[in-house]
Amino acid sequence: MGERRLDRQAAVRGALAGEDAASLLVTHLPNIRWLTGFTGSAGLLLLTPARTVLVTDFRYASQAPQEASAVAEVVIERSNLWDRMRRAIAADGIASIGFESHSVTVRDAGRIAALVPGRAIPRAGVVERLRERKDDDEVAAIRAAAALAHAALGEILPTIRVGERELDVAARLEHALRRRGSEWHPFQTIVAAGERSALPHARTSERVIARGELLLIDFGAQVDGYCADITRTAVVGGPPDGRQVEVHGAVQAAQRHARERIRAGMSGRDADALARDLLVAAGYGDAFGHSLGHGLGLEVHEAPRLAATAEAPIIAGAVVTVEPGIYLPGWGGVRLEDDVWIAPDGPVLLSDGNTDLLILDS
Ligand code: ZN
Ligand code: ZN
Repeated sequence: MGERRLDRQAAVRGALAGEDAASLLVTHLPNIRWLTGFTGSAGLLLLTPARTVLVTDFRYASQAPQEASAVAEVVIERSNLWDRMRRAIAADGIASIGFESHSVTVRDAGRIAALVPGRAIPRAGVVERLRERKDDDEVAAIRAAAALAHAALGEILPTIRVGERELDVAARLEHALRRRGSEWHPFQTIVAAGERSALPHARTSERVIARGELLLIDFGAQVDGYCADITRTAVVGGPPDGRQVEVHGAVQAAQRHARERIRAGMSGRDADALARDLLVAAGYGDAFGHSLGHGLGLEVHEAPRLAATAEAPIIAGAVVTVEPGIYLPGWGGVRLEDDVWIAPDGPVLLSDGNTDLLILDS
C-alpha cells in the first residue's frame, strides 16, 4: 500500500510539473487520505518536488505516524497547524504554492494566502482527477462495501411491515449495516414510501407505510473508507398494480441498458443518454429529472459525472453509479441504482444488479 501511495504522490508531482507552482497544499481530507493513508479529521499536507509533509494535531499523535509515516514526514503540532505549515514552507524556501480552491472556505483561503511570500495559485481538482482511476484495492473495497450493503438489506427486507414508519425501516437497515461492519453511513439513508418516493432526495420521515405502496430505499455502506451506493424499490404488503409494474419495468430496462453499455472514452453526456433516450421513448422523459450517476470512491459523490452537461470522457478504471428513475408527483417514484466499474474492456458490476421490483409480503 505504501508503494501505491508514493506512486500517487509522484502522479501529483507530475501533474504540477511545468506549472507556476511545483508544490501543492492539500486540504481536502479525502485527498490527504488517498495520498498518505491518514484518516484523521484535521490535517494539512504539503507536497513539494522533494518532500511530503503532513501536519496534524496532538489528537493524532499516535495514529498519524502509524498511518502515514511510511510515505510522509509527520509533524504533530500542539498549537496552530497553519503556523507550523508556514514555517515548513519558509524552511524550504517555497515562493508560491498551488491550493485546492474548489474545497477551501473563504477563511482558509486567507490563511493560505498568508502562507507564502509569493503567490497562492488556485489548482482545483488536481488530486480528484487522479483519484478517478481506481486501483485493484479500491475496486475490491467498493465491491466489499456493496456486498455488505446487500447483505444488510436482505436481512431487513422480510421484516418490513405495513403500518410502520419510514424511520423504523431506516433504523433497522442502519443497525444491520453497522453490525455487519460498515464504518459509517456515507450519506443519510433514504426510505421513502408512497407519494414520497417521488422525491429523489427524500428525507426519511415519520410517514407510515400503507398497504400496496411503493417503498424506495437508497443507502450505502463504507469499507476501508470506500463507499457503495445502492437503490432498490419495493411494493409493501401485496402484489404491485399495473402502473407500478409498468413504471418499474421502464426504469429497469433503462438501467440495464445503460449499465451494460457504458464504456471508457464515452462522455458523461453520452452515458446519461443511454438511459435517458429509453425513458423519453417510453414517455417518461420529463419524469427523469436528475442525472444518470456519479463517481464513487472515498467520497460518495466524486468524479466523473454522468450528466447531460458532462462533456468530459469517462476514463478507464472509474467507478460510477447508474441510477435512472421515474418520479411522478403525487403518485410515487422508482429508482434503481447499481455500482459499476468501468474496466478497460467494459463495465463490471460491483453491486448485485438485482433490480427486480421487490414484493414484500407483510
Ligand atoms: Zn444512492
Ligand atoms: Zn447515487
